[in-house]
Amino acid sequence: MTVRFAPSPTGRLHIGNARTALYNALYALKTGGDFILRLDDTDTERSTQDFADGIVEDVAWLGIVPARTQTQTARKARHDAVADALRASGRLYACYETPEELEYRRRRLLARGLPPIYDRTGLSLTSDERTALEAEGRRPHWRFRLEGRVVEWDDLARGAQKADTASMSDPVLIREDGRYLYTLTSVVDDIDFAVTHIIRGEDHISNTGVQIELFEALGATAPAFGHHNLLTTADGEGLSKRSGALSLQSLRADGLEPMAVASLAVLTGTAHAVAARADLDALAGDFDLAAVSRGAARFDPADLPALNAQLLHAMTPEDAAPRLKALGLDPDPVLFEAVRANLVRLGDARLWWQVVKGEIAVPVMPEDAAFLRLAAERLPGRIDQASWGLWTKALKAETGRKGRALFHPLRLALTGEESGPELAALLPLIGPDKVRARLLAAAAA
Ligand code: GLU
Repeated sequence: MTVRFAPSPTGRLHIGNARTALYNALYALKTGGDFILRLDDTDTERSTQDFADGIVEDVAWLGIVPARTQTQTARKARHDAVADALRASGRLYACYETPEELEYRRRRLLARGLPPIYDRTGLSLTSDERTALEAEGRRPHWRFRLEGRVVEWDDLARGAQKADTASMSDPVLIREDGRYLYTLTSVVDDIDFAVTHIIRGEDHISNTGVQIELFEALGATAPAFGHHNLLTTADGEGLSKRSGALSLQSLRADGLEPMAVASLAVLTGTAHAVAARADLDALAGDFDLAAVSRGAARFDPADLPALNAQLLHAMTPEDAAPRLKALGLDPDPVLFEAVRANLVRLGDARLWWQVVKGEIAVPVMPEDAAFLRLAAERLPGRIDQASWGLWTKALKAETGRKGRALFHPLRLALTGEESGPELAALLPLIGPDKVRARLLAAAAA
């Protein structure tokens, strides 16, 4: 099995593109197949190296390891050879209409109530007529002669499908300036890279009939196709690679874990509840292209923080260690275990590292001064896991305070925060000297 994800490097990937990339990657994982990253860069006006580099980075961030990464423009010699073969077999023919002429004919057909299909004028030109047109300074663009038949395929996501190529214009495969259009290069590369399954968004379903004809014209058997539904925002809006909205880059910059993004991208619009999966293998277990719904898959980016928190709450200190180091934090496993249940983003750890290992601004609480001074006096010289319970029990007995009146001033004095991790765990980590100093600072008038 070989699959490919084939974005054009004309923008950064968004979460909807991630859905396509991941569906391919999960298919490869499940079947032990290869995943190819193909950069469809034949539109040289809009493709850039920066976008290509960004896509490679985004795919890696998702945890996908391509068996091969390939740009299409690097394969021009091969595409030229295939185009020549198609010309020789009469399936590729030269056309000389200008865009204005084509538009005029299109309107005339529509006005007569006819479908605006290209009339194949190019196909019937004699070589003298072609020479005359070229003498006028016209350069040809090249169209693929369709057979005009009903093409059928069994879609992995949508079941039996049909496309009638008799109702389509012969597609342009080569522009006037010699640049190839995606249809030709995509099919040639799918053949040469031995792609067995094309999994892509349903916005490509209308290309499939033509592509199957082209596979066959090139003597190949078309691969299997699966067209999944597209992600839309909660109000039904589509995503655009050009707008940069919900780009993987921006989600990463927002401190989200790749598996939070991947879980939402993959599970939205399936039979599975959207919950965070730890890794791609776990997600692959829930992945079934045939079970993806047909309607638009509405997702809410506001779900991402909760998914992210689920991942962090289950993260082991070993997995956290390199990530904490990357944030410039000493990867203390005990501290991580003490605070992970309070993290929404890993970067939130900074606050608790500061509370435990650094200095904080302690709020002064004059109304609790006497209590805080007493708490400092009663603090044991050595603190362990049991200390918090014993200490607060003693303070309760001596002052009659309980509940919030007992705990809140202590929390505020020790951490500077209204809420946070269990103080029983934080107390030994902060240590007796800093705890005492903070209590006295909070008690200062
Ligand atoms: N380059 C095309 C795109 O970005 C690829 C479509 C396909 O997967 O065949 O939409």
